Amino acid sequence: MSAGGGTVALASSSAIRTLTRRLEAVVVRFRPFFPFIHAAMAVFFVALIVGPAILPQSALTQRVAGAANWLIWGLWFPLVFLSVIFTGRSWCGTLCPMGAASEWVNRVGLKRPVPGWLRWEGTPIVSFLLVTILGQTVGVRDYPGAILEVFGGTLIAALTIGFVYGRGREKRAWCRHVCPIGLLLGVFSRLGIVDLVPKRPVAGGDAYTERGLCPTMIDLKRKTESRHCVMCMRCVQPERAGGLQLRLRPPGEEVAEIDRHHPTAAEVWFLYLGTGVSLGGFLWLVLPQYQWLRQTIGAWAIDHGWDWIGESGPSWLMVVHPEAREVFVWLDFLLIVGWMVGVMLALTVILAALNALTAWLAGWLRAGGRAWSPAAISRASSRNHSSDGNATARGTAAAGLAKPWRTASSASSARTRSGASGSRKSTVPSAMEYAPAAMSSSA
Ligand code: SF4
Repeated sequence: MSAGGGTVALASSSAIRTLTRRLEAVVVRFRPFFPFIHAAMAVFFVALIVGPAILPQSALTQRVAGAANWLIWGLWFPLVFLSVIFTGRSWCGTLCPMGAASEWVNRVGLKRPVPGWLRWEGTPIVSFLLVTILGQTVGVRDYPGAILEVFGGTLIAALTIGFVYGRGREKRAWCRHVCPIGLLLGVFSRLGIVDLVPKRPVAGGDAYTERGLCPTMIDLKRKTESRHCVMCMRCVQPERAGGLQLRLRPPGEEVAEIDRHHPTAAEVWFLYLGTGVSLGGFLWLVLPQYQWLRQTIGAWAIDHGWDWIGESGPSWLMVVHPEAREVFVWLDFLLIVGWMVGVMLALTVILAALNALTAWLAGWLRAGGRAWSPAAISRASSRNHSSDGNATARGTAAAGLAKPWRTASSASSARTRSGASGSRKSTVPSAMEYAPAAMSSSA
C-alpha cells in the first residue's frame, strides 16, 4: 500500500473508532429508558393481538383488525428482518415485548437452572416448525382469533419459561432456547454490521453460563458469535476496562469467517427445515396440484368409509369460520400438515445434496482442479520467479487454491493448524470441513 493509501486507511479506521465510541455513549445514555420502551411495546402488543379478537364485530372493528393485520405482517415482520442485517437482534433486546416479559417474570420466578432438553440446539427449530404449521392450519394471516391464539400462546409460553428457568439476574431463557424466531434472527444476525466484542477476550471460543450479566447466558469474555446476543447493551460500559465494546464490521464478515465464529449444525438444519416448511406453507395455497391431491385423497377416503375425514375439527387446531365461508375439515388439516412436512423433507434432501456437492467441489477445486486452470498456472509460475525460496508453494496456494470467501486471517489460521511449512498439501482442508457434521463437531 502506498503512503497516501496508508494514511487514508488510518484516518478512516480512526473515524470509525470515534463513531463507535459515540454510539456507545448514546446507548449508555438511553439505556435507562429501555424498560419504558419495553412496557410501551408490551401494552401495544397486547392491544394489537387481543383487541381485534374480542371486540364485537362492526365496520370499525373490522377496520381495526385490518390495520392490526397490516401492522403485524406488512410492517413488523419485514422491518424486524431488515433490522437484523444492520443491527443484529436489536429488536429482541430493545423492543420485543415477549423477551422483556419473560425477563420481568424471571426476576420474581423460580430461577431454576435451564434443563438439558431446553438447552438442546434443536428446541428452537421444533418451536419454529410447530408455530409455522399451526399458523397455517388456523389461518393466522386472516383471522384475529388465530393471531390471538398463536401470538398469545407464544407470550404465555415465554412467561412460563421465564418464570421457571434462568438463574441469576434477569435471564431470558426464552430468547436463547425457545423463541420460534430467535434462531432465525440469530442466524441472520451473523450478517449484521454491528457487533459487540470483548475488550479483553479469553481464548477458547464461546461458552454458556447462567452466572454472568448477560440475559442470554453468553460467557462475555469468550463471545465470538452474534447469534445469541439480543443487543440489550447492558454489557457495554465504556468507563470500565472490561465488558464488551461496539464494533462496526463489513456485512457478512462473520459468515465469511464462520469457522472462527462457532458454527453449529443446528443452524444448517434450521436453514434447510425452516426454508422447506415455509415454502410448503406458501405452495399449498397456490399450486393446483395441491387441490388435485385433496380431491383424490378425499374421494379415496370416502370410498373406504373414512367419513370422519370430511368433518370439521376444533377451532384451535384448524380454520372454522362459517361466517367467512371457510371451514377446514380433518382432510384439510392432515393434508396441509403432511404437505408442509413433505415439502420440508424434500427441500432438505435437495439442499443437503447441493450443499454436499458444493462442499465436495470446493474441496476438489481447492485440492487440484483449479490449480490446473490457465490463469492459476500462469499466476503461480510468475510467483515462482520471485526470490523467496518458498514462493512455489505459496504462489500455487495463493493463485489456485485459496478459497475466494476465505480471508487472510482464516487462511493463515489454516496454515498455523497444519504446520509452518505452508506447503500446498498441508493447507488444503477436505471438503468435509464444510459439511454440517464437521461443523457440528467443531462447535
Ligand atoms: S452480549 Fe451484551 S448486549 Fe448481547 S445479550 Fe449479552 S449482555 Fe446483552
